[in-house]
Amino acid sequence: MTTRIILIGPPGAGKGTQAARLSEALGVPAISTGDIFRANVKGETELGRTAKRYMDAGEYVPDEVTNSMVADRLSQDDAKDGFLLDGYPRTRAQVADLDAMLEERGASLDHVVELTADVDEVVGRLLARASLQGRSDDTEDVIRHRLDVYAEQTQPLTDVYDQRGLLRQVDGLGDVETVTERIRQAIGA
Ligand code: AMP
Repeated sequence: MTTRIILIGPPGAGKGTQAARLSEALGVPAISTGDIFRANVKGETELGRTAKRYMDAGEYVPDEVTNSMVADRLSQDDAKDGFLLDGYPRTRAQVADLDAMLEERGASLDHVVELTADVDEVVGRLLARASLQGRSDDTEDVIRHRLDVYAEQTQPLTDVYDQRGLLRQVDGLGDVETVTERIRQAIGA
């Protein structure tokens, strides 16, 4: 069975953690655009150099860059029978590009899971992660800015997917296992 899922939610809502757990449970790759960018920054590639400027400022990497990176990743063999997208799409232009990529393959999305979490909670989580992982975009100012960008550019996408009947809202607060169970229920897995 193919499963194509998008995980959407503010930074700090736990998308990465849940994506890894669901990927294992569902047998589809978790594809995180943030992780791919970070790997490129670490590897000092051209893409990494471009992305870093935006990431450090808490801005989105330009759509053309992000979309072509995702097109490349989705064309790999392991994504043929499904995927879990973590952190993509984040803009309307990305929604349109993803639609085109799927249409090309005669494929369609099954679920868009929105992980909800309140702002103070996610700021607290991100600050805790900053001290553990030392991510350069986890300072309080940048965190607040990332949340604003999310509210402005990404939150509205949930309406788009709701209109398509694909949106499943899941409370992201609680322990990791509880949230995974909620997601599984929401997608009937
Ligand atoms: P994340 O790990 O998903 O929070 O992503 C970290 C950073 O990578 C974001 O703040 C953006 O700068 C960049 N990024 C990740 N995904 C995207 C995307 N879909 N569009 C644009 N920028 C992205």
